[in-house]
Parts: sequence; C-alpha cells; structure tokens
Amino acid sequence: MDQSVRKRRHSASSATEADVLIVGGGPAGLAAAIYLGRFRHRVVVVDAGESRAMLIAQSRNCPGFPEGISGPDLLQRLRAQAAEYGATLVQDQASSIEPTVGGFGAETNAGRIVARKVFLATGVVDVVPAIPRLREAIARGSVRLCPVCDGYEVIDRQVAVIGHEAQALREALFLKQYTQHVTMLARYLPDFSASTRRVAMEENIAICDTFKKFVPTDSGYQAVLK
Ligand SMILES: Cc1cc2nc3c(=O)[nH]c(=O)nc-3n(C[C@H](O)[C@H](O)[C@H](O)COP(=O)(O)OP(=O)(O)OC[C@H]3O[C@@H](n4cnc5c(N)ncnc54)[C@H](O)[C@@H]3O)c2cc1C
Repeated sequence: MDQSVRKRRHSASSATEADVLIVGGGPAGLAAAIYLGRFRHRVVVVDAGESRAMLIAQSRNCPGFPEGISGPDLLQRLRAQAAEYGATLVQDQASSIEPTVGGFGAETNAGRIVARKVFLATGVVDVVPAIPRLREAIARGSVRLCPVCDGYEVIDRQVAVIGHEAQALREALFLKQYTQHVTMLARYLPDFSASTRRVAMEENIAICDTFKKFVPTDSGYQAVLK
C-alpha cells in the first residue's frame, strides 16, 4: 500500500468521522446541516464564528418572523435546530482540507475530521471603507451594507451611497425606489465618469465630489467635505 495513503488511514482512525463536513456555520451552513441531518447523514459543522449575520441588529425580511429577528438570535435558533437533527457543531477554524481515500480530511485546533463529502459555506467578507465606530454604527442602523435587505428601512430618509462607480450607481438607482434623497459620495471628480453623472442627473441622484470623511454624531454620521 502507498505510504501516504496508509498514513492518512492511520490518522483517520483517531479522527472525528462524518458523512458530511460543513465548513461555515452561518445561515447557509446551518440550513445545509438541518437538511442533511434530516436525511440521516452524520454531519459535523466547523465554524470560525465570523458570520455576517452576527452584525444584523434586526432583520425584517426573514420569512416567518414578521416582528423581525436579530442575526445572533437567528443563528442560535439554526444551531439548535441543526443539533436537534444530530449535527455536531465545532467552534473552530478549518485550517486545511485535503483529499483522502474515500473522502476528505480537515484539520482544526480541536482535531482532525474525516468525511466523505465537504460542503463549503464560508460566506463572504465585507470590504468596508475606514469609518470610525463602524460596528456600532451598523448595529444602530446608521451604516447599512445591503440595499436589498435594508432599502425598506430608509423610506424617505437621507441616504449617502459609498462604493465603486458602477456598483454605487446601481445601488443608488435601487434606493431611489425608497427615497428621493440619495447622494453618491466621491472623493475626487474623476471618481465618476460622465456617463455615470448623466444617469445620476437624469434620475435626480445627487453627486458630491468633495467628500472627505464621516464624523460620528448621536443620530448617525455627518459627512465632512473638503
Ligand atoms: C449588517 C448586515 C445586515 C444584514 N441584514 C440582512 C437581512 O436583514 N436579511 C438577510 O437576509 N440578510 C442580511 N444580511 C446578509 C446575511 O447576513 C448573509 O447573507 C448571511 O450571513 C450569509 O450566510 P452564509 O452562511 O453564506 O455566510 P456567513 O453568515 O458569513 O457565514 C460564514 C461562516 O463561515 C465561517 N468560516 C469561514 N471560513 C472558515 C473556515 N476556514 N473554518 C471554519 N469556519 C469558517 C465564518 O466564520 C462564518 O461564521 C446582512 C448582512 C450584514 C453584514
């Protein structure tokens, strides 16, 4: 037998065994764990604990929760539901995953996990501008990261959009369905092309070219101009 294979088989014997290893315990990974558990598979979920849902102060578009639900509360419910169907939840980071005979082996601080299948639900990481006290502001709802989730929450309010040109314009146009008061912020004139400016003007979206920084206030932020 090939040496490396034997080695893997040997180490697999002291490892946690599963039919499916799910990497990531956000809503996607936990929903998968619930379904797979109900299909009577042995499931291990390894989660590093950085779900974007942790930042949701109150979600109001989650079906079944007309009064809204916080991200941490939703995650807690999903974890309990996954555990109910037998999923093992490991709070850790999967530092590596490699193919083995008949499946995969993953390394975590808590030990090795071997599984026939791996389901990656590692989510995405927001790239945000340098804004002071950002987490606090997100929790308060003065900074929002997703117009689809939160457009409804800013009906008729003043909204500033920060983003790269095409994306900023797309989000600003979307937000115009909710409020007439949308301003796209740029630091320099060349940040937005003539065609972007034309579309913005046609849609009554203001563009401010002299944005410098945000200063936190009691109720939100004040944009400081150059
Ligand atoms: C401020 C804010 C408000 C939002 N509001 C809403 C809303 O109202 N409604 C709505 O539907 N959506 C909302 N969203 C979006 C929602 O949070 C995401 O769509 C959702 O969390 C995505 O789920 P996910 O499981 O794909 O990823 P995530 O929730 O990001 O989970 C991924 C998980 O994988 C883990 N992970 C990554 N790499 C590894 C590794 N190597 N080993 C172990 N674990 C790993 C991470 O630590 C994380 O816990 C909001 C997001 C933000 C930031």
